[in-house]
Amino acid sequence: MKRLCFAVLFVFAAGTALGQQYPNKTILMLVPYAAGGPTDTVARVVAQSMTKPLGQNVVVENKPSAGGILAPEQVKNSKPDGYTILIHHVGMATTPALYRQLRFNPLTDFDYIGLINDVPMTLIARPTFPAKDFREFLAYVKANKDKVNYANAGIGAASHLCGMLFMSAIQTDLQTIPYKGTGPAMNDLLGGQVDFMCDQTTNTTSQIKSGKVKVYGVTSAKRVPSLPDIPTLQEQGLKGFEVGIWHGLYAPKGTPKPVIDRLVAALQETVKDESVKKRFADLGATTYPPEMATPKALQAHLKAEIDKWTPLIKKAGVYAD
Ligand code: ASP
Repeated sequence: MKRLCFAVLFVFAAGTALGQQYPNKTILMLVPYAAGGPTDTVARVVAQSMTKPLGQNVVVENKPSAGGILAPEQVKNSKPDGYTILIHHVGMATTPALYRQLRFNPLTDFDYIGLINDVPMTLIARPTFPAKDFREFLAYVKANKDKVNYANAGIGAASHLCGMLFMSAIQTDLQTIPYKGTGPAMNDLLGGQVDFMCDQTTNTTSQIKSGKVKVYGVTSAKRVPSLPDIPTLQEQGLKGFEVGIWHGLYAPKGTPKPVIDRLVAALQETVKDESVKKRFADLGATTYPPEMATPKALQAHLKAEIDKWTPLIKKAGVYAD
């Protein structure tokens, strides 16, 4: 009994010491998509803000791949010491249904840190797209379905999910052009090489406000306060059409609890930070309150999102190998 107490005490003391030592070097935050895109934008705001409470730099590293499936695998295989963490969006919940051979399991290969924010999406087109509103857009797309294409960030990306639901809602199949992130896709859209895309407001707000792209609607059930003049797709007749993106922060499975606790505390400081909340609000995103920036809240949300999207994706019959 005495020995057991000693062992428990030892583990507790070691854990506390670890929590006090951590972090003593730069922390890497892996982003599953290209630099300059919406996930990257959110990552950079969060990383910069977490640097202060952690007392060490949090550096964003882009590990882009179509569908964003490489970064989670890399984080899964990283040392669980709190120095490599992952930021990801709804793709953590959709890829298990979309990929037959996914090399990570969102529900068993990670420790959870917490939820960050919710981000709506927008339906946008190249500046020269020949439609002035959603009604014209729909008519043009249907009449020209063999030549209209849309950009996305690969199967499993939010832009893919939105495009898939959109095609199903308008009962029209279109050609998709995959990128390793909607940052590069946006460049091609601005240059007129692709016709349209559905992307997070964190990537589209400034292009919409400066009139550099055409916009046909937001994907949320209600209008977005930072883009009050843009009607929802529901308002314009797409009944029940709603796609929302959320971001969370993850660590490899087996990360010591005192290390996770430090990361959670830093994330909670970040979501309380008025300048972070304002930056996100200006980009159309809603920051979660600190009580949702917790492992429990992220785990529950991820599970609920997997349960929500899996049947819808199975019904749509979309797969990647
Ligand atoms: N917006 C992209 C997506 O479709 C990801 C990105 O480039 O950040 O998921």
